[in-house]
Amino acid sequence: MNPPSLMYHDVVAPGHEDASGFPGPAAAHYKLDGEAFERQLTALAGSGLQFPAVTTSPLATDTSCLLTFDDGGASAAHIGTLLSERRMVGHFMVTTSRIGTAGFLNADAIRDLDAGGHIVGSHSHTHPAEISRMPAAMLDAEWRISVERLQQILGRPVSVASVPGGFYSRAVAQAAAAAGICFLFTSEPTVREHIVDGCLILGRYTLWRGMEPATTLALARGTGALRQRQWLEWNLKKPLKRCARPVYHLVRRHWLGEA
Ligand SMILES: [Zn+2]
Repeated sequence: MNPPSLMYHDVVAPGHEDASGFPGPAAAHYKLDGEAFERQLTALAGSGLQFPAVTTSPLATDTSCLLTFDDGGASAAHIGTLLSERRMVGHFMVTTSRIGTAGFLNADAIRDLDAGGHIVGSHSHTHPAEISRMPAAMLDAEWRISVERLQQILGRPVSVASVPGGFYSRAVAQAAAAAGICFLFTSEPTVREHIVDGCLILGRYTLWRGMEPATTLALARGTGALRQRQWLEWNLKKPLKRCARPVYHLVRRHWLGEA
């Protein structure tokens, strides 16, 4: 069993959702308001759980929770400070083609996160729409270029990554492992342990805008039926994602208020 992992994205001021990370209403759905995020951190800090780095060895699976932040938006710098104040470690997954562009971390901010004791990982190079459908050579390049870019910035190996858009496949994991990734976070809401080519695959529970601290706490602790509910919803969407792709994207846009 893996420790539970929580998947966050950006933390923004109300009405300024596009200030950090990818713009648009679909991405905004995953961005928390600053005040709401701090309430979540207060609840987590009082939970009795530890929030270590995934690279910690040995990693306690029953008393730990891993905090991850996807996309590499500029708000990660502030999030890192909030976590450090509470002695929590964050895993910041950077879309490397966006480094230094509007709304995203620059190289100095990435080095600051690393120096602050946080984990900097890859979130692919370009954040492709469906990484699992890419030809092998392009898939390899997504991880390889991204890991190389981060290693240049940090001056040391990068072994952690997360899959963009939740489009996991065994080939995606194999390509990540070949690029040197030893810990790969997916969007599958599970704590089930799974290893591909020596790379540990870790599922994550998703946090959305508007989620209450009690919900976050239940996902972190595994109390109530919230983990099972996310797992069920995720698996109900899977066949739709795979077999009726245009319908899936239409439903998703509609659900997120884009249509
Ligand atoms: Zn992403």
